[in-house]
Amino acid sequence: MESLAESLKRLTAPGKLFRVLPDARLECFACAMRCKLKGGQTGACRVRFNQGGKLMVPWGYVAGLQADPIEKKPFFHVLPGSRSLSFGMLGCCYTCDFCQNWVSSQALRDPAAGHAVRPCSPRDIVKAAADDGCLTVTSTYNEPLITSEWAVEVFGEAKKADLRCCYVSNGSATPEVLAFLRPWVDFYKVDLKCFDEGTYRRLMGGSLKAVLDSIAAMRELGFWVEVVTLLLPGVNDSERELSALARFLASVSPDIPWHVTAYHRDYRMEGPESTPAATVLKAAQLGKAAGLRYVYAGNLSGDTGGWEDTACPSCGAVLVERRGFRVMGSRLALDGSKGSCPECRRDIPGVWA
Ligand code: SF4
Repeated sequence: MESLAESLKRLTAPGKLFRVLPDARLECFACAMRCKLKGGQTGACRVRFNQGGKLMVPWGYVAGLQADPIEKKPFFHVLPGSRSLSFGMLGCCYTCDFCQNWVSSQALRDPAAGHAVRPCSPRDIVKAAADDGCLTVTSTYNEPLITSEWAVEVFGEAKKADLRCCYVSNGSATPEVLAFLRPWVDFYKVDLKCFDEGTYRRLMGGSLKAVLDSIAAMRELGFWVEVVTLLLPGVNDSERELSALARFLASVSPDIPWHVTAYHRDYRMEGPESTPAATVLKAAQLGKAAGLRYVYAGNLSGDTGGWEDTACPSCGAVLVERRGFRVMGSRLALDGSKGSCPECRRDIPGVWA
């Protein structure tokens, strides 16, 4: 029987995100791994490969397609209460044991993972978004950077239908891929998994510096950026590490929303069953103390007081009230896509309507 890797090789097309090196290898710059591939070699993501001097990349299928609340991505400063058509392919450049999408992301590495794939066209995806009343389409489930050429093909069709476009990503990008994405991606969510280079290398197989550089570059380029940190007890939840992480985000912009979310045991990770609510609340307080204006506690709906709501940083008025992924009410004063506090008139950053 044909393996998943063999069948996916047929769902590929020549890619764009590479350069030819003097020794004829292809340097892929879809992600910060920058694999240098000889003929016949496959990249660390296992889905991009050098075939006779062409970089072949995933194309023309989905492994997951579903309309979700945009709060689930999570984006809290983007079109609250709307739905986003989420699509994903297979594979990832990281190898996190605690991955919560491992069935998609580790499909090419782990025989226990794997996922049926369905050939489709960008039009099929955009039609599904329209049928479900979505305002956005999101590349998610696997790591979208490694399938960026396909995402841009889908987003090109989505823009024609007046949809806005999102990435839900580990943020391990390069300047080249961010320039490629900028005309198409409006909203970029980054998983900033910890604030320790050694942990990034050991647990993810990635580089903290690459992610930090990318977050700063995304803001410079004008993407709307929200950041999520999944709190792993004993791994990334020390006060010192979380404070340093929050200070970094605040130094890029105090308007970056930071979501601190509770971990539940998944995939091959051994450890505590879940992150205690007290840890999530402490992290949220550290974020505020570091100067971040919008900090949210996630994955513990109902246990986090007002930390799921958007409040005005000037007068404290609650502007968007949430429970989990549901928006219970919004009092923002709207002016086009902009929003402000109805009490003190302070502008609240984001795309609200
Ligand atoms: S996407 Fe990243 S991991 Fe995959 S081939 Fe390109 S540089 Fe390597």
